[in-house]
Amino acid sequence: MRASRYLIATVKETPSDAEIISHQLMLRAGLVRKLASGLYTWLPLGLRVLSKVSQVVREEMDKSGAMEVIMPVVQPAELWEESGRWPTMGHELLRFKDRHDRDFCLGPTHEEVITDLIRNEYSSYKQLPAIFYQIQTKFRDERRPRFGVMRAREFTMKDAYSFHASQDCLDETYKIMHQTYCNIFSRLGMEFRPVIADSGNIGGSTSHEFHVLADSGEDEIVFSSDSDYAANIELAEGDIPAKAQSDKSDKATCETVDTGDAKTIEEVSDLLNRSSDTLIKTLLVHACNDDGERTEDLIALLLRGDQELNETKASKIPGISSPIEFASDESIEKAIGCPPGCLGPVSLKIRTVADHSVVDLQNFVCGANQQSHHLLNANWNEQCKYDEVADIRKVQEGDISPDGKGTLSIKRGIEVGHIFQLGTKYTESMKASVLNVNGKAVLMTMGCYGIGVTRIVAACIEQNNDKQGIIWPENIAPFHLVIVQIDAQKSETVSEISEALYVKAQTLGMEVLLDDRDKKTSPGVKFADSELMGIPHRLVVSPRSLADGVIEYKRRGEDEKQLIDKDMSLEFLNSIVSSE
Ligand code: ATP
Ligand code: MG
Repeated sequence: MRASRYLIATVKETPSDAEIISHQLMLRAGLVRKLASGLYTWLPLGLRVLSKVSQVVREEMDKSGAMEVIMPVVQPAELWEESGRWPTMGHELLRFKDRHDRDFCLGPTHEEVITDLIRNEYSSYKQLPAIFYQIQTKFRDERRPRFGVMRAREFTMKDAYSFHASQDCLDETYKIMHQTYCNIFSRLGMEFRPVIADSGNIGGSTSHEFHVLADSGEDEIVFSSDSDYAANIELAEGDIPAKAQSDKSDKATCETVDTGDAKTIEEVSDLLNRSSDTLIKTLLVHACNDDGERTEDLIALLLRGDQELNETKASKIPGISSPIEFASDESIEKAIGCPPGCLGPVSLKIRTVADHSVVDLQNFVCGANQQSHHLLNANWNEQCKYDEVADIRKVQEGDISPDGKGTLSIKRGIEVGHIFQLGTKYTESMKASVLNVNGKAVLMTMGCYGIGVTRIVAACIEQNNDKQGIIWPENIAPFHLVIVQIDAQKSETVSEISEALYVKAQTLGMEVLLDDRDKKTSPGVKFADSELMGIPHRLVVSPRSLADGVIEYKRRGEDEKQLIDKDMSLEFLNSIVSSE
């Protein structure tokens, strides 16, 4: 490709609305352009990378035995009504009507469409397992599109779905997909972690997310120093190290103390000179009825003062509204008769759920359910009881891994993939069955497996960049080699040699960009662009170095330049190709 005939859309200044490095570099290197909020055009340079990422994903999916299909982006409402998701999907689902006034949506995911296909095409357990995948556009009307293609509204996903006649068969495919995902992210040169995940509103039980480690990640992931345990913080478990637990001592006399304006854990612990791990934090949340609808009833959640609530875990407790809804100050005042800062478990006449962190506490401090008052030296079974115990705590750095092996660290991650066991959630509502060995109709059981293909490009840049720009791994770089021509208009030898190198590199199978832009583009800009675009290998052909009988070579990401004898430059290309 000749740069003079190619869209090199590099930008020097950092765009002001791009917060994270990958978003900045994708705009600056000319990979994408924004059309509207969450909508991006992939420019030629960006599309080369995206296509290579897609190809790696495709090759590994093909190896796993999955079959590629393409399903429509536009989906009829009837299917979503059958699965029961039409009324529950909320605003992320973009709905519209066609000219016949029929309801449609833009597919945010394809469980309904694939289940409809499979129930019509498959009839016997003998045909299973069946795994289908597509690499295709999804639309989700995200509440807060941000970070460029990382959280876009329109994006490319690889989504796969598997169908089985037994749980064992699903388990087997799930394992294969887990391994396939590890192969994909390894081939893409990413530092990643599979973690146990929440299966969210898609349904089902077993689920893993694949996270690329990066400080800009929106998720927190937790993993053990000495074992394979790794989980999204939303459902991570862990034990508080013993040394942090308060010492056992005799039960002291409980008294009510005036705490004035002190409301927060910090203020109360300072005022009473008691460390926060001897305090109990009481949070009131709304209950829900048997249909999952939030009610006006309140439930108290008890945590040790130095611990935080994990809302995802708490919202899974039957009877608690999901997502968690905290009681307002007014409703607390109305139900308990005191402000939120003075709540405590003593004489509290509502359901109480105690986190494990509070059950061992003795002589603790808690609110007295009375304005400006707390209790000092309260004890379980003396002053109060809790109704039930549950794990509702957010794990902290340094906690003991739930398998007892090692301590937990917390890092930020970008979710690039997610696999689920869906069970019969969709096949039941959409009546997708096959005949089993006895000729009886049985519901198929299902798995689904997603990868954010466009998000991978951004995540890869988060992990591979420096001050000058992107540093692409060789196998997804837009070009392998850039040949920078300097002052070709002044020296015929410069153009002769660079043209010869350009032809030779192509015959060797390299994807090469010849920077033959004319003198309006200065050598400095050509160098800066090659670094910004992250092209792994660079050769510079200039009159000055040719006068010394050499051309210059530089590997992106390395400081050292190498001088190559100009008569050996074609052979040198061979050595680059064979070193990769
Ligand atoms: P997130 O938690 O990031 O919103 P999700 O859990 O809703 O993602 P899934 O339904 O699991 O997403 O989709 C599969 C994959 O698609 C995700 O792992 C992610 O890599 C990608 N993805 C999801 N939403 C977006 C988006 N708005 N923009 C780009 N990629 C996305
Ligand atoms: Mg997900």
